[in-house]
Amino acid sequence: MKNGVVIVGAGHAGVQAAASLREDGYDGPVILVGDEDELPYHKPPLSKTFIKDAEAKPQPLRGEAFYTGSAIDYRPGVRIDRIDTRRRSLDIAGGGALAFDHLILATGSRPRTLPLPGADLSGVLSLRSLADARLIRDLSAQSDEIVILGGGFIGLEIAATLRATGRTVTVVEAVDRLLGRAVAPVVASHVRQRLEATGVRILTGTSIARLDGENGHVTAAITSSGERLPARMVIVGIGAMPNVELAQSAGLGIANGIRVDHQMRTSMPEILAIGDAASYRHWFTGGDVRLESVQNATDQARLAARTISGHTDAYSAVPWFWSDIGDMKLQMVGLTAGGDSHVVLGDLPENKFSIYHYAGDRLLGIESVNRPGDHMLGRKMLGAGFSPTQETVAEGPDGLKAALAAFQQDEPARAAG
Ligand SMILES: Cc1cc2nc3c(=O)[nH]c(=O)nc-3n(C[C@H](O)[C@H](O)[C@H](O)COP(=O)(O)OP(=O)(O)OC[C@H]3O[C@@H](n4cnc5c(N)ncnc54)[C@H](O)[C@@H]3O)c2cc1C
Repeated sequence: MKNGVVIVGAGHAGVQAAASLREDGYDGPVILVGDEDELPYHKPPLSKTFIKDAEAKPQPLRGEAFYTGSAIDYRPGVRIDRIDTRRRSLDIAGGGALAFDHLILATGSRPRTLPLPGADLSGVLSLRSLADARLIRDLSAQSDEIVILGGGFIGLEIAATLRATGRTVTVVEAVDRLLGRAVAPVVASHVRQRLEATGVRILTGTSIARLDGENGHVTAAITSSGERLPARMVIVGIGAMPNVELAQSAGLGIANGIRVDHQMRTSMPEILAIGDAASYRHWFTGGDVRLESVQNATDQARLAARTISGHTDAYSAVPWFWSDIGDMKLQMVGLTAGGDSHVVLGDLPENKFSIYHYAGDRLLGIESVNRPGDHMLGRKMLGAGFSPTQETVAEGPDGLKAALAAFQQDEPARAAG
């Protein structure tokens, strides 16, 4: 245990892994290395509040005192270039090495880029880090017209946030609906209607052919049908790709992310991977996934710490996610791919409803808009392994709570066989 644990990546997953190691009683060295120059911070507020408020400060994941108080050696502004698996050592960019007994790769993901003429003009940005958010905030203060490429969660959050500051915002999405396959069509069209009602222009089924500029700065996005969308800022939000290069060069297994088992171990057991960068077979669906959410990052971090401390439990956290788009709090629990029917609770015109997705008689997940109670109850139901009938869902929250309580009361009898 002399070299302890080195964690590469000081985002949501890396910081939680360091904290969990200490909470679990790990008493060897813990070194947390991150290539950003910041105290590790919460990413979700960047697209929701930070970019519209010149006074907003980043929200630290933990206070500065946490790192010293927990004997976590946090090293900001340090990039790891290479893993020497034979020597169990990391090469630091610019020189130096760092030895480890266990390594946790928490390298996250980065925005996909668009291979488009004009994509290298200034004013063409994407949002991943605090540094990106500062650039967007500064430039949006001087930009009346903004074009956002991509109608996913981050693009739509930014659209709503900047529209609320009075900017002219156009969202361009290549496929014929918003939010890809992340939510049901009824949720996607609800989000579209409400955003359009605030004045956001949304073009679906539309591609961008090129970006035009003057003096090196973007001035317009040109659609493939030739429409000119004036823009002083273009934000590219077309998804993220996992940062796997370190792992790849070390010969670790890669499949849409760094491949890990149910204890977060890569193909080399002393190296673990967690968060946006990791892909794995999900206990809930039996399918291979790579999830980009705070829940996934922090729950995997807790499990990786347990694995290093010698526990053998398997990953079994219920997946959940949230997104704030204007006046809509979207919350998702479970994984709904493969659903074949659904039940709706609540009221779309009131902007408060939930969709309960089923495959046969199994509840797969719930998508809620401004119904946080449904979401929390959903987390409890899926966490307990309880799948209510669609008739019980139709009874509403009281019926569901009673059914869950009855299910939990019967647990001892079920366990006994
Ligand atoms: C704008 C925005 C809004 C979001 N909103 C939500 C939301 O509302 N709800 C939700 O659940 N999720 C949201 N997410 C997703 C969530 O933030 C991510 O899933 C989460 O940050 C993943 O954590 P991570 O630790 O795996 O990666 P990250 O938090 O990205 O951390 C990875 C860190 O590793 C560093 N790194 C990479 N390679 C190296 C290297 N070689 N050497 C040193 N350091 C390295 C990176 O620079 C980065 O700092 C949002 C993300 C963004 C960008």
